[in-house]
Amino acid sequence: MAKNAAGQHYRKGITLVELFQMFPDEATADQWFEGCLWEDGIHCAYCESENVKERTKHPTMPHRCNDYKKRFSVKTNSVMHASNIGYNKWAIATYLMNTGLKGVSSSSMKPHWDLGITQKSAWHMLHRMRKEWET
Ligand SMILES: [Zn+2]
Repeated sequence: MAKNAAGQHYRKGITLVELFQMFPDEATADQWFEGCLWEDGIHCAYCESENVKERTKHPTMPHRCNDYKKRFSVKTNSVMHASNIGYNKWAIATYLMNTGLKGVSSSSMKPHWDLGITQKSAWHMLHRMRKEWET
């Protein structure tokens, strides 16, 4: 990461360009969410079982619980459940709220403007994410 670019103060955070490069597509963001939510391996979204068949070829529900006999994804039973907002938008918004951008205070950030999602979706999502990841 470039330090003190153009004589600017280096602050904790990344640029919007760097952020978009981190999540170029759905698959990348999906994996990032899986890493965040399932640090110790994939658990069933319904019953928390670890008896899971991971990464099947199903396009939207890649994992399957062998106990509960249902498919799930990182979206299942999360704030992203049944959301048609793409993983990469969720990832970018989440990252923005948790990390911040260079030269942008978190209170002035309006992820719903940048990402083309509604304000309601944005706040619901961010509230939920913060709660989940504080513990
Ligand atoms: Zn299960």
